[in-house]
Amino acid sequence: MAQIAQVIVDVPTMQTNEPYSYAIPDALRDQLQPGMRVTVPFGHRVVSGFVVGITDDTQFEGQLKPIQAVLDLAPVLNSELQQLADWLATTTYAFRITCIQTMLPNLLKAQVEREIAPTAELTAQERATYFPDGMARPFDSTKLDPTTLSGLLKLRQAGKVTVTYQVKDKAAVKTTPGITTTLPTSQLQELATSVAKRAPKQAALLTYLQQLPAQPVAQAKVIKDAGVSAEVIRAGETKGWLKRQPLEVYRDPFQQPVAPTKPLTLNDQQHAAVTAINTAVTQHAAQTFLVEGVTGSGKTEVYLQSIATALKLGRSALMLVPEIALTPQMTNRVKSRFGHQVAVLHSGLSKGEQYDEWRRIDRGEATVVVGARSAVFAPIQHLGLIIMDEEHESSYKQDENPRYHARDVALWRGQYHDCPVVLGSATPSLETRARAAKGLYTRLVLDHRINHRPLPTVHIVDMREEVKQHSGDDDFSAPLMTAIQERLDRHEQVVLMLNRRGFSSFMMCRDCGFVLKCPNCDISLTYHVNPRLMKCHYCGHEEAVPQVCPNCHSRKIRYYGTGTQKVEEALQKLLPSARILRMDVDSTRRKGAHERLLKQFGRHDADILLGTQMIAKGLDFPNVTLVGVLNADTALGLPDFRASERTFQLLTQVSGRAGRAEKPGEVYIQTFNPDHYAIQLAQTQDYERFFVTEMHMRHQGNYPPYYYAVQLTASHEDEKVAAQAMYQILAAVKTGLSDQAIVLGPTPKAIARVKRKYYYQVVIKYKHEPHLKAVLDQIRQGSQRAARGLAVTIDAEPMNFM
Ligand code: ADP
Ligand code: ZN
Ligand code: ZN
Repeated sequence: MAQIAQVIVDVPTMQTNEPYSYAIPDALRDQLQPGMRVTVPFGHRVVSGFVVGITDDTQFEGQLKPIQAVLDLAPVLNSELQQLADWLATTTYAFRITCIQTMLPNLLKAQVEREIAPTAELTAQERATYFPDGMARPFDSTKLDPTTLSGLLKLRQAGKVTVTYQVKDKAAVKTTPGITTTLPTSQLQELATSVAKRAPKQAALLTYLQQLPAQPVAQAKVIKDAGVSAEVIRAGETKGWLKRQPLEVYRDPFQQPVAPTKPLTLNDQQHAAVTAINTAVTQHAAQTFLVEGVTGSGKTEVYLQSIATALKLGRSALMLVPEIALTPQMTNRVKSRFGHQVAVLHSGLSKGEQYDEWRRIDRGEATVVVGARSAVFAPIQHLGLIIMDEEHESSYKQDENPRYHARDVALWRGQYHDCPVVLGSATPSLETRARAAKGLYTRLVLDHRINHRPLPTVHIVDMREEVKQHSGDDDFSAPLMTAIQERLDRHEQVVLMLNRRGFSSFMMCRDCGFVLKCPNCDISLTYHVNPRLMKCHYCGHEEAVPQVCPNCHSRKIRYYGTGTQKVEEALQKLLPSARILRMDVDSTRRKGAHERLLKQFGRHDADILLGTQMIAKGLDFPNVTLVGVLNADTALGLPDFRASERTFQLLTQVSGRAGRAEKPGEVYIQTFNPDHYAIQLAQTQDYERFFVTEMHMRHQGNYPPYYYAVQLTASHEDEKVAAQAMYQILAAVKTGLSDQAIVLGPTPKAIARVKRKYYYQVVIKYKHEPHLKAVLDQIRQGSQRAARGLAVTIDAEPMNFM
């Protein structure tokens, strides 16, 4: 009876969701399980693959190629995650292998590399030319010089070299030297007595070894505890008293110990929320909650106490937060409650650290997992609760394949584990709030701040008037400057938010209106001061700063828009004694910089924290009593139906940083659109009214959540190819769907050209289209046979229409 493995192979250019069958060699029979990575022959190559099934096949007659090697001792994806990968492939129109790769930590993404090895057939001359060190060499035709390449190819045709495949699996377990002994205690005792006089240090080691546990102990610990040197240990090894054995250690991403905290006494609304969630946890109910709590209402405490319930029942918990909010402040709050049980997963960790945290979770050593988007795939078993903080954040949606939303994955896992999912936000996404309105989610409201502290008073500053009255400095209004000065006088702190990065947004000629654009993309270049360059933020193109207008040769060039660096300089001029900290992409690029800046601000080493939207979320500094938003409008102008929602969310979030402790907070929002409903409702921080207003707009425009949406994009270096592909897709879509569906396009995307490619899109809005999935699956399959260089993407429920 033949055993056959179903393998999803990793071949980027020929992807399919159908597994291929391979014979399982006898030697691997008892070892191989679904969820393991293997290498298999495929065409003329060897590729890596993933075992998704094993079948006993008595019928099979033909000749199957055998699996070549197994890369894992145990499955790297358990059966839940294997099922999840299939579901993900179905719902996001991505290929199964892409989904599997996405779910694994970076270190487990095996790569198979070609090597070319010498054989005995080679002449001494050939050997000296091509294999001077006698070893196999990497065979990457793109990296070899043409002479060597053709030489090697000739040798290969002559059968004088062989091509082999090496798996470059970077999964590295970190070890430290460890020590064990195999001698019985009595013998160690005898030895200790016999050397006591002559070699007291050796005796000390022997005495220490007597109480050594069976598992290896770190050598560093032995040296310290026994009070002996490394030399004594080496001597002991030679004499056969002890054995050295590598000891597996975890790279610990938390350097500092965290002071433990106790659960707080909940207020009535918190108590009601925790009770409802606890009931669902206890009853293993896959219920979805929306915790709608204003900023500073104590949502985090609700999460922590619900997690405690899951742990008490012997289950584990997953808490998702936006990457940007994964500040040490937030992770410390969880660590301080649950200590060593906590694992943290985010992009700031090295690949090794990520892998170690992943293994701690996989082995059940960590039972609370805090992490950003991809942590939703953490191999947690016995899940008792899933929490998604700031559920409205668009960073929960991945904008490359697989284009999944972590919220959907969380809900799937909640169903799988029969556990509740808690979605929390001060400004829930319209989709989530609408589901709560329909009764699909249970809504839990925290409508006031802890201890009834008032929400901050928000002032709207009409910048049109400001610019008219003052001679054109459109960065700082008079009321905001007065308010900042007051805080400086009272030794309170200020948070200022600017929605940009770089020094100045773009260059424009005041004579002819020419704007300097990227030659590859369709967007304006950004002016950078240090070094002085014009840069494209999409493709990285750089060029010198022009002295005269490239179009009309006028010298009247002005830099429009504002960047954090320029604002910092201007502000420093206005307030020479203020201590300003700048926090943006540039100042936080280095590892740990983000944390250091926040610590500095927390110690009141600075008066003003000036930053991009990265300062809007999660910060909890009691001494901050003023928040200023320098340009509330930047997001409003974007061609995206969520522009108002994003603006309202951002303004509400950043306002929430003010007045979180005893001292009341104040907010100044500078805007050129003071009458816009998103700005006006952000002033009163009235989410419910915003929800009703925005739902009305969405209803008028046939947008989500009233309609579902799918975005199809085609891109190619040749604009015609991209457009034609989109027209073909349009035809396929139109024939496959009912006339209820609204199909928009094809249109060039808002940013039509990025990285030398042209982008065209079609957007489908629909309510009920039973054939849609089949149509899109066909488009996906067809896209693989498409013209060279043409990329087609399918994005279900896109978060970004740009
Ligand atoms: P949110 O996440 O809703 O913005 P937080 O959870 O950060 O609010 O809570 C705001 C502040 O109130 C925090 O400093 C927190 O420690 C404190 N806090 C939360 N719940 C309580 C409580 N029941 N009693 C006293 N202080 C609380
Ligand atoms: Zn000009
Ligand atoms: Zn560019």
